[in-house]
Amino acid sequence: MILGCHVRMTAPDFVEGSVREALSYGADAMMLYTGAPQNTVRRPTAQLHIAGARELMRENHIPSGNLIVHAPYLINPANSVKPEVAELAVQFLNSEAQRTHEIGAKYLILHPGSYTTSDEKTGIRTVISQLNKLDDLPVDLVICLETMAGKGSELGTSFEQLEEILSGLRSTENYGICLDTCHIHDAGYDVRDFDSVLDEFDRIIGLRHLHVIHLNDSRNPIGSHKDRHANIGEGSIGFDALYRIASNRRTESVPKILETPYIGGKPPYAAEIEMLRKGEYDPEKLNSLRNAL
Ligand code: FE
Ligand code: FE
Ligand code: ZN
Repeated sequence: MILGCHVRMTAPDFVEGSVREALSYGADAMMLYTGAPQNTVRRPTAQLHIAGARELMRENHIPSGNLIVHAPYLINPANSVKPEVAELAVQFLNSEAQRTHEIGAKYLILHPGSYTTSDEKTGIRTVISQLNKLDDLPVDLVICLETMAGKGSELGTSFEQLEEILSGLRSTENYGICLDTCHIHDAGYDVRDFDSVLDEFDRIIGLRHLHVIHLNDSRNPIGSHKDRHANIGEGSIGFDALYRIASNRRTESVPKILETPYIGGKPPYAAEIEMLRKGEYDPEKLNSLRNAL
């Protein structure tokens, strides 16, 4: 089971600190933002302790595919209403793709964007044309479009829509999919029957294009289009279904990344990873974080 979580990337140790944080939770995969998720201010990679991070990963037998970067969520390559927003997205993604590669990560997760006051068709056309402007993408870098919950005018809420975007992209080997369990549940897919979801994914997109799974429970019922993550076992997906996803043989080689909320200001990941590795739900593990002062 390749299991990891969202980790911080902050001074003084930056990416090396991110890897160390993940290891402290018993993780063998990790996802980070190269700066604040809500802005595009970024430090030069020379300051990010990349050599130390690589060394730590090598010592712990963690391949580069298990180190994942998430693009900031404010960039919107689907915005045709304000073309400068979509252009900023392209500009930023060009440098983010380079940074991701320099950090030594293989996957860059990207929200396909929102069409705002336009319409779905125009939004899809806009993401495709903007992403096709990216130049010099590193050969072994894969930008993974994330499945979305369908909040507001979000794109990426169905496998069909994602397939439509993928099929319009020129540099096909540079693109793939990140499947977020909370998001597809909120979008209306019944992830409790994960094998059927994978069958559908395979039929429409092709399982070989699935590179990362975001493993999150959801605070809301199926089809709610809300996108509020819950801790493992505490939401409407539930522990058993999430464990079946984490241990599914067909996605064995796909890293699963937790993006569950902190509890009482503390990361819940060590407890959640332990429960998933054991296949045993223990609500007390999370409650003890909640009740600690
Ligand atoms: Fe995301
Ligand atoms: Fe996600
Ligand atoms: Zn989400």
